[in-house]
Amino acid sequence: MAARLGNCRKCGKLYLRLRDICDECYQKQEEDYLKSADYLRDYPGSTIQELSDATSVSIAQIREFILAGRIIAGHFPNLSYPCNSCGTMIRSGRKCSKCLDTLNQLAKQIEITEKDKDSGSNRKNDVYITRKL
Ligand SMILES: [Zn+2]
Ligand SMILES: [Zn+2]
Repeated sequence: MAARLGNCRKCGKLYLRLRDICDECYQKQEEDYLKSADYLRDYPGSTIQELSDATSVSIAQIREFILAGRIIAGHFPNLSYPCNSCGTMIRSGRKCSKCLDTLNQLAKQIEITEKDKDSGSNRKNDVYITRKL
């Protein structure tokens, strides 16, 4: 397997691309993970803020562990993490239900606009009038 050079996505350092982050960051990440997992074992009722304060692991990093499935938020009653878009605390997925709704609405609107283009906008008006009568 040919190794390639790349920039670490965490620290930006040039490194031999064996994983998506450099060795130094990988070591640090594994330490952070062990610290977080240890703390949660002792204090399963802690919030992400308490966990971050106690371990000095950043909330963003803990969130990554949760999203990667390494820390299961469902196992800890108070462990929630910020939505990707608006920062609302959530317990599953990357976005809160509100942001997901907004996304779905947008997707639907785009779909409708595209359909209108296909069928011509007059037909929709006809249907509307018929129903009204
Ligand atoms: Zn790095
Ligand atoms: Zn949100």
